[in-house]
Amino acid sequence: MAHGRSNGSDMLPVLVVHGGAGHVPEEYQQSVLAGVRAAVREGYAILQGQGSAMDAVVAAVTLLENNPSFNAGLGSVLNAKGDVEMDAIVMDGRDLTSGAVSAVKRLANPVQLARLVMDKTIHLCLTGEGANQFAREMGVPEVPEESLITDYSRMRWKKNLAPDANLVESLMGKMGTVGAVAVDAMGNIACATSTGGLPNKMEGRVGDTACIGCGGYADNKVGAASPTGHGEAIMKVVLARLILFHMEQGCSTEVAADKALAYMKERVGGVGGVVVVDPQGGWSARFSSRQMVWAAGQQNTLHFGLHAGEHFTQSTDDPN
Ligand code: ASP
Repeated sequence: MAHGRSNGSDMLPVLVVHGGAGHVPEEYQQSVLAGVRAAVREGYAILQGQGSAMDAVVAAVTLLENNPSFNAGLGSVLNAKGDVEMDAIVMDGRDLTSGAVSAVKRLANPVQLARLVMDKTIHLCLTGEGANQFAREMGVPEVPEESLITDYSRMRWKKNLAPDANLVESLMGKMGTVGAVAVDAMGNIACATSTGGLPNKMEGRVGDTACIGCGGYADNKVGAASPTGHGEAIMKVVLARLILFHMEQGCSTEVAADKALAYMKERVGGVGGVVVVDPQGGWSARFSSRQMVWAAGQQNTLHFGLHAGEHFTQSTDDPN
């Protein structure tokens, strides 16, 4: 787990991403670490070029959705019927505008549709067929269902059909949901989160990721958080907003995240993780799950880790 302390505006811009709370099998650990580092390089380059926090988080999450090692976009888990249904959210801390989609099908990049909901509609969240209809109106191409499904997600789905399967344990048994938070050079803050959800979930299940304050929250006055973990638990404690509440009370990103994660564990038995930023460029990647793969870019340094207490660094110019 990691955090960076803020000490002035030279700490901006900053971007932090995660690739899901849980337990990543050894054979996938290098690929998920490479995935989050690539996502930070992509988003951080946008911030270094004076791009917006919103553009950076959407670019980073898009790259992770396209990576089959994560439970978002390509590689999403399957629902009980064996279909992919995805949730995504974005939020702009300048004016608290947000856009989300839930239970969308046959889209490569749900996070981009969430952004269109924010930019082009008067609504905050579109769901199911209505969201897919909106995608068609916006000219977003649909992809074949099969093109989002990996051998791994199908194998996992079959395993979870067993009557004694524990879906929450299964969620924690693999790399997961993806998310990003950023503060740009202007001090604007944004977040984005995207997921295939809970493995073998009921058809039509909407998780935390599509719900403002649960799967993401961004406010220029306070900071931003992108959570991952058991969605039903995250929703019960409104995790992202709870973290920002603790920050409003004076807590650092790290203390706020730890307090909120501890509360979720005590109160509803939920485990998860979160990436958090504050307006000064302070940031944290914290989790109560066994692992959470994360990476951050700040002051030309790329920070990353997977296991508790791990914190590696390299130059953002290092291509690997
Ligand atoms: N929070 C997501 C959900 O429950 C899953 C995850 O973060 O891995 O849909």
